[in-house]
Amino acid sequence: MRQKIVAGNWKMNKTLEEAGILTSELMGLVADEVKGNVKVVLCTPFPYLYPVKQQLGNNARISVGAQNCSEHDSGAYTGETSVAMLKSMGIPYVIIGHSERRQYFGEDGALLATKVDKALAQGLTPIFCCGEPLDIREKGTHEQLVKQQVEESLFHLNAEALQKVVIAYEPVWAIGTGKTATSQQAQDMHAVIRKHIASKYGAVAENISILYGGSVKADNAKELFACADVDGGLVGGASLKSREFVEIVKAI
Ligand code: PEP
Repeated sequence: MRQKIVAGNWKMNKTLEEAGILTSELMGLVADEVKGNVKVVLCTPFPYLYPVKQQLGNNARISVGAQNCSEHDSGAYTGETSVAMLKSMGIPYVIIGHSERRQYFGEDGALLATKVDKALAQGLTPIFCCGEPLDIREKGTHEQLVKQQVEESLFHLNAEALQKVVIAYEPVWAIGTGKTATSQQAQDMHAVIRKHIASKYGAVAENISILYGGSVKADNAKELFACADVDGGLVGGASLKSREFVEIVKAI
């Protein structure tokens, strides 16, 4: 059975103190209210990864993830954070290829392939993001683009490595806009991604968790998570409020 995952992407939000409060609220709510084997991942800003990890202790259900990593191993790359650094702090997940990284920092498929390789080499789980902008959706070429994004950054992997990757489908027009994809649109694209993976890797495609991201909220999560090929969510804005986020986690 595929792992169910709900990951919160805090982006560049919260002070250290606020991060500690949110983590503590989430620990309590998740322990009291969340059943089943869903994994919760808190993708915090870099400076909070280690304190939040320490705060979580041996929490069996909640873990931490970075929002990005460098494509380099070490050296004169001011402001960057390597996967080896993440590994040395015991960080198990890293988001790679978020649309904001693609859009504002010019990250392309080849660069993201290198980041995926670096993460896997150090034993981290990449949460690889793909998704089309509005103009591509309107042109009707969204399936083609998303398949290309997946191919460019993941299809060089062998089957064993690919199975260690989590994919997040995030239509860019739905991120932070309050405009969610319908559950049908999400299911259709998730099925396209899975089928595309199956065309190269066969049955392995059935083992890969594909998360949906884009204005997931407590009131639409249940319908989205009920889709056969949606294995959880990557949640931005709504992950900053403990009650809202836990309701999303409970929806799975
Ligand atoms: C995201 O940042 O990955 C995201 C999906 O944001 P939001 O939930 O706010 O749309």
